Amino acid sequence: MICKCGNKETVTLEQAFKNGTIHIRIECKSCKSFLGYQPSVSDEDFAMPYGEYKDYLLNYIVKKDPDYLKFLARTAKKGIADRCKRILNN
Ligand SMILES: [Zn+2]
Repeated sequence: MICKCGNKETVTLEQAFKNGTIHIRIECKSCKSFLGYQPSVSDEDFAMPYGEYKDYLLNYIVKKDPDYLKFLARTAKKGIADRCKRILNN
């Protein structure tokens, strides 16, 4: 995806819609223009955007360090906490 400013680098932000679905908001890294939404990945294929397990999939964390996932379920922002809860309840 290329922005009209010519920049190819994008940032993605997870956004919860009012109906409960989660989408990834894509913005230009350079000029911050809104470039679109993409449907969010499944809980298992969601990569942590920060923290001890940055860039690791939740599916990996739940096997490797379930206590950390429980910690996230309690303390992470809503979209991520909800994913952790769903995985822990599976
Ligand atoms: Zn741009």
